[in-house]
Amino acid sequence: MEYPTFADARRALDAGETSCEALVSSFLKRIDARNDEINAFTSVDQDGALNHARYLDSQRERGNPRPLAGLVLAVKDNICIRGYPVSCGSKMLADFSSLYDATVIDRLRDAGAIFIGKTNCDEFAMGSSNETSHFGPVHNPHAPEYVPGGSSGGSAAAVAAGMCHAALGSDTGGSVRQPAAFCGTVGLKPTYGRVSRSGLVAFASSLDAIGPLTRSPEDAAIILNIIAGEDERDSTSAPVNVPDYPTALGDGVEGLRLGLPTEYFAEGLDDDIRRMVTEQVDRLEDAGATVKEVSLPHTEYGVATYYLIATAEASSNLARYDGIRYGYRADLQETKQALQERREELKAELATARTQGEEARVDTLEAQLDDEQSTLDALYTRTRTEGFGDEVKRRIMLGTYALSAGYHDKYYEKAQRVRTLIRHDFEQTFEEVDALVTPTTPTPPFQIGEKADDPLEMYLNDIYTVTANLAGLPGLTVPIGTHPDPPNLPVGLQLLGSHFDEALLLRVGETIME
Ligand code: GLN
Repeated sequence: MEYPTFADARRALDAGETSCEALVSSFLKRIDARNDEINAFTSVDQDGALNHARYLDSQRERGNPRPLAGLVLAVKDNICIRGYPVSCGSKMLADFSSLYDATVIDRLRDAGAIFIGKTNCDEFAMGSSNETSHFGPVHNPHAPEYVPGGSSGGSAAAVAAGMCHAALGSDTGGSVRQPAAFCGTVGLKPTYGRVSRSGLVAFASSLDAIGPLTRSPEDAAIILNIIAGEDERDSTSAPVNVPDYPTALGDGVEGLRLGLPTEYFAEGLDDDIRRMVTEQVDRLEDAGATVKEVSLPHTEYGVATYYLIATAEASSNLARYDGIRYGYRADLQETKQALQERREELKAELATARTQGEEARVDTLEAQLDDEQSTLDALYTRTRTEGFGDEVKRRIMLGTYALSAGYHDKYYEKAQRVRTLIRHDFEQTFEEVDALVTPTTPTPPFQIGEKADDPLEMYLNDIYTVTANLAGLPGLTVPIGTHPDPPNLPVGLQLLGSHFDEALLLRVGETIME
């Protein structure tokens, strides 16, 4: 990797060759030099980061270092840090600041991590390209006309461009892994329940996970060590023992059983990505792993299932943005005036309909006048119309439809049943193999604007990543080189494991990157 990892920095700190303050300063310089072009950060806390670094340096001098002292982290702008903005890439929360710390932030700060700023993302984490952010698109640091992936595109770009050691992202259907793959970083989506979601702004609560984007599996292991574990503030966090992840690294892959799911190498996969992943599989075999083909027959329903469940949960989670309690509120006077104008229009139409004797039309217009929105309802509507972008609105409508009376069984419940089948596929496969090897994405990064107007095309990007969220499994992506066409753009390989088996994935990832 072009820039040092946190593990490297920690060795340099221990050897007295650098200081936390020097580390922060060098990252701030790089942010200064490149953020205008890349747009990875929505806010940078220069003073806070430098002050915290100086404090950590003074603690170090007193012989009291913390385990993560000197780790400079960027944090996706949908994770709460008290007193920092948390926009979720949306106009709805553009001026909103967090009132409390997410549990992961509490734990990382206690361990000595320094938060350098908040990173840009797709609006409410909905997207695969970072083009839906209210703050503009993020550019891929390797080629600015290309997308960095999404929704944690700012986090991935910040790590890849050397603006921090590592970043936190959130992964509901691939949002840590896909941007990590597109930017050439490591990205870990932990098992559902492994890391507390408290303080992560909810998108789809049964799928959401916080995970690190790093330059090495070792850094991911170091961060996971701190953020993993049960939390009383998240009832879905799991009371499962947390192993020491860094010590699990370095054991190699001798004797491991790896599976290649046929469905992840089928039609639609880019030929060069297929070749690059296969080359890595051969290397793993040479290193002592056994490899066999396996089948996950319900994979083909993954994207459809995900987009029903994720949108249904989102339509419910996003109901709270009503302009009364949080964030953006439409102008009340304008809202009243618009209501008044609409009323006048209806009255005029009614008068015309009456003089022309159009009885049916008269009935409809009278009903519309009776049914007039209250000012409060009109304010909700106007706020949400102005505050949300197109993709978020599309998802709220889709999800509301999937949950509506009459369609609930047909769409939402059916999707839940298929979700169970997808989970069973994995459970059966993990009786035969220890981990699965797949591509992270079906294609290399695409150009900004290329897929922005075609939601279906965009959703198909998530074909290899959504299944891990549906099944609650851990997934790790590691960079395996650059694509020949477009040149210099990174390609990722994904490892999927059984529940709570992050350590094994990190170990295989480490072997691949050695
Ligand atoms: N790209 C997927 C989506 O648009 C995943 C998003 C995510 O993981 N937050 O929903």
